[in-house]
Amino acid sequence: MSLVVGHYGLSVSTIEEIGEADGWRCWLCDEPVDPTMSVNDPRGASIDARSTRKKAKKKARSLPERLAHRDCNTGKGNTEAVVQWPEHLFVVDPAVIIQSAERLATKGGREAMARCPTSEDANLAGAWLVDRVSRLEPGVQFAFRVEPAGGQFLLVLSA
Ligand SMILES: [Zn+2]
Repeated sequence: MSLVVGHYGLSVSTIEEIGEADGWRCWLCDEPVDPTMSVNDPRGASIDARSTRKKAKKKARSLPERLAHRDCNTGKGNTEAVVQWPEHLFVVDPAVIIQSAERLATKGGREAMARCPTSEDANLAGAWLVDRVSRLEPGVQFAFRVEPAGGQFLLVLSA
């Protein structure tokens, strides 16, 4: 997957439309974006064009452009965008969130996302994850299950 990054010379109305659609929240770091901040500021608004080769062929997917902070957007360069698992969650072998969410949004089904030491950890991580991926892939209904697995608990995401 390659992301096309950095659209310059965007009109203010485009940023406003995409900002409204994303609730003025950065899709990469999940922090608020201040709509009044200059687009030249590192914490200002920028647009991340999420076009992948696969999606270019598959035009049906909506919302290809997402709101991001300028430094989150340009900071990732040509590498794949990464959504971090928060540090307060106890997860082992966590899956790559964006890729898993995209596969589930495209094909449905279920994916093992992480292992957790306790069912409580797995439930906390699952609640966080469902909320997070619901904003990554608006319009997709996600759910999670916790399954005991060899003394640990497997967090399974489905769509
Ligand atoms: Zn950000």
